[in-house]
Amino acid sequence: MKLSYKLKVFANKGKIAVLESLANFWVRKVNEYIVLYWRMPDWEIKLAKPPAEFRGSGSKLENLASVKAWQMVRAVRKKKRGPKVKPVLKKIEFELDETLFAFGDFTTKEFDLWIKAYSGEKGKRIAIPVKKHRRLNYWLKRGARFQKTVKFKKINGEWYAVVFLSPPPKEPKGDVPVVGMDLDYTNGAVDSAGRVWFDERWVNLRQRTKWRLYPDGNNPLKQEFNRLAKRLVNEYGCHLAFERLELRGKRGRSRKFRRDYKNLPYGHLARRVKVLAGLEGFRTVRVNPAGTSQTCPVCGHRERRNRKGEEFRCVRCGFSAQADVVGAVNIAIRAGQKHGFRPVVVRAVAEGWRRRSIRPPVERFVVWTLLQSRPPADFRGCDPPCHAYPVSYG
Ligand SMILES: [Zn+2]
Repeated sequence: MKLSYKLKVFANKGKIAVLESLANFWVRKVNEYIVLYWRMPDWEIKLAKPPAEFRGSGSKLENLASVKAWQMVRAVRKKKRGPKVKPVLKKIEFELDETLFAFGDFTTKEFDLWIKAYSGEKGKRIAIPVKKHRRLNYWLKRGARFQKTVKFKKINGEWYAVVFLSPPPKEPKGDVPVVGMDLDYTNGAVDSAGRVWFDERWVNLRQRTKWRLYPDGNNPLKQEFNRLAKRLVNEYGCHLAFERLELRGKRGRSRKFRRDYKNLPYGHLARRVKVLAGLEGFRTVRVNPAGTSQTCPVCGHRERRNRKGEEFRCVRCGFSAQADVVGAVNIAIRAGQKHGFRPVVVRAVAEGWRRRSIRPPVERFVVWTLLQSRPPADFRGCDPPCHAYPVSYG
């Protein structure tokens, strides 16, 4: 896993001109090598790097450009689905490896990170000032290390240096509860503790943007998902479970749904959570979503009639709750059964088991009340006995 950070470049005109010319060279070379490699048969493209005789032979930068071209061709050739179209590098960027750049071992009053980069001339490097930002400092303080690559990139007329960090290794945490997440593309995100995340804003966003991209390339929904992912990991501090997406999503939906939700970044939240939770030692698991919104979490009865729009009401035992909460609880329970985590269930479900003297489908589970924004202070990493709700079997 690696983290990447985009840092704004504060360089004078002369240095910017150098960046521009290196990027021109890079893009031209990458595209030239793509043409060359594209003619090669599949079996030859299998290698991770281009064979020495086909590699860029001019400067070191040309060599790196040829490797980049190889990777781009290879990524397309490896695709299992969809048409294989010859790739083209359109972005204005270039990459340097450890032989072509170093981080400066000095800081100045204004800039706390300097990148001494290749300038196109042998033996002459240019010092490029950038500023670290809060998250980058956070990870550096916790023992993350810079990786030996840097990418310079021009976005909307501004130059950025993209640096990569390897986070400090984290042991996966063992006996931690799991919260289930149900994503409803009309109402927002609901978790198995019964909490609804950003319902109002979600609706506004949907009406305002129809999940469109903004011209500057930002996707407001992705930004919202990024914020949510951060809050979920920080506030819950536990494992998180999502639905597997192969069975849901765009397939089998109406044309109107597909049109309205064309730009919806499916799976973005789960992917983002996976990165952030992984850094803290928490796991992100996916479960089979079949029937999660039609199965009664209390008695296990599965029937389509259990769900009527927003409301879930079990036709066998009478348990009722908000339909998305039921979905989220089922996801948490499935994750618990599959991985041995203790699922977090909304109090109503635990009450349902107790009142009806039903043996829960999992041996141990946890109840967090709806209004708790985080688990009790003594909860984190607790050993059993935990805060499992007392259940008496009749
Ligand atoms: Zn039931």
